[in-house]
Amino acid sequence: MTVEDSTADAEFRERVRAWLAERADRAPKRTVLVPQDDEAVARWRAWQAELADAGFVGITWPEAYGGGSGTPAQRVIVEQELEAKGLQGPFDFIGIEMVGPTFIVHGSDAQKDRLLRPMLRGEETWCQLLSEPGAGSDLAAVQTRAVEQEDGSWVVNGQKVWTSYAQHAAFGILLARTDPDVPKHKGLTMFAVPMDAEGVTIRPLRQITGDAEFNEVFMDDLRLDPAATIGAPGEGWRVALTMLGFERVGVGSGLHAARLDRLVEAVGRRPEDREDRATLIRLGLVASELLALRHTSERIVEEIAEGRVPGPEAGLIKITSVTASLEAARLAVDVAGAEALLDGEWGHQVSALPGVRSAGGTEEILRNLIGERVLGLPPEPRPTTKA
Ligand SMILES: Cc1cc2nc3c(=O)[nH]c(=O)nc-3n(C[C@H](O)[C@H](O)[C@H](O)COP(=O)(O)OP(=O)(O)OC[C@H]3O[C@@H](n4cnc5c(N)ncnc54)[C@H](O)[C@@H]3O)c2cc1C
Repeated sequence: MTVEDSTADAEFRERVRAWLAERADRAPKRTVLVPQDDEAVARWRAWQAELADAGFVGITWPEAYGGGSGTPAQRVIVEQELEAKGLQGPFDFIGIEMVGPTFIVHGSDAQKDRLLRPMLRGEETWCQLLSEPGAGSDLAAVQTRAVEQEDGSWVVNGQKVWTSYAQHAAFGILLARTDPDVPKHKGLTMFAVPMDAEGVTIRPLRQITGDAEFNEVFMDDLRLDPAATIGAPGEGWRVALTMLGFERVGVGSGLHAARLDRLVEAVGRRPEDREDRATLIRLGLVASELLALRHTSERIVEEIAEGRVPGPEAGLIKITSVTASLEAARLAVDVAGAEALLDGEWGHQVSALPGVRSAGGTEEILRNLIGERVLGLPPEPRPTTKA
C-alpha cells in the first residue's frame, strides 16, 4: 500500500507520521503481552483517547457517531504507521473491531448516540458475553435466560465463560435465551449489559501464558431495562452472526500486521540461519501466507467500509493469520533457542496462539463453514438438526 499511496493518501500518511513522531516517546509500546497492572491499562486507554481525538480510531465509522467517515486505505495507513513506530493501537480491540461495527448495523439511534463515542475514546470498554460452559462452537445452544417482565424490563440468570477483558469492561454484549419454546436459533436476543450492575460477578481465569485475560461471568437476577436489547427480541442470532463476521476479520487483521518484518529480522541475526536451507524454506512459506493475508484483509476492510457485513469467507483470514503467526513464532523461537520460550513476545505467542485457534470460532468450525458456504461442498454431518 505504501508504494501505491494516492496523493491524498500520501498527505494523510504524512499527517499521521508527524502526529505520531511528536508522541512516540510517551505512547505505549506495541506488545502482544497482556497488561497486568491497572496503571498500564490506564495509560493504554488514555492513548486510545488521544488517537480517537486525532481521528485515528473508527476511521471508517460514520461521522455522526464520532468516526472519521474515512477510507479503508486511511485505516490501513494508521495501522501501518503505528506498527512502523512500534506503538500500540486502541486498547479496546473488542469494542472497536467487533461491538461498535455491530451497533452500527443493528443498534437503535439512542444506543449509537449514547455508546459509540465513549467506546471510540476507550472511556467505556466492552467485552463479549457469548460462550458458556455448554455453548462454544454450538453458540446457539446458550442457556443463559432473560425473562421479560410486565414493565418490559428483563431479568437475566446464567453463566458465561472465556470472557476476555471483562475485568476492565464498562459494558458487555450478551447473548441470552428469551424464548425456550421455539427452535434454538430463533429464541435468542442480544443485550447491552452494564458490567457494574448488581447481579454481575466476574472471576478471572489464569492461562498457560501466565496472563488472566479471560474471565467467568455469572449473572444472578440481573435486571436490564427495556432499551437494553440490541435488535428485536428473537433476532439475537442475526446480531451474533454479524458480530462474529467482524470478529474473524478483526482477529485476523489485528494479528498479522507487519509481523513479517520482525520475523525476517529474528531469522537474519546469525549467518548460519541466514544460509540454512530448511530455515529459509520455512521463512518463505510463512512470508507468502502473511503477504497473501495482508492483501485479503485489505480487500475485506474495503468491503466493510462499503457497508458489507463480512461473510463466511472472513473465516479464512482468521485461520490463516493464526496458523501463519504461530508458525512465525515457532520459527523465531527455533532460531533464537529455548530461552526465547521463557521471555519475550515470540515465546508468549508460542503458548498464546494455540488458544486463539479457538477464539471467534474454532479452526474446524471455520473450515466447515468455508467448505459449505463458500465452496459449496456437501454439508458436514450435524449431531443435532439446526432449526
Ligand atoms: C483467546 C480466546 C478468547 C476468547 N474470548 C471470548 C470472549 O471474549 N467472549 C466469549 O464469549 N468467548 C470467548 N472465547 C471462547 C471461544 O469463542 C470458544 O472457545 C469457541 O467458540 C469454542 O468453543 P469451546 O471452547 O466451548 O469448544 P467446543 O465447541 O467444545 O469445541 C471443542 C473442540 O471440538 C471441535 N468441534 C466442536 N464442534 C465441532 C463440529 N461440529 N465439527 C468439527 N469439530 C467440532 C472444536 O473445533 C474444538 O476443537 C475465547 C476463546 C479464546 C481461546
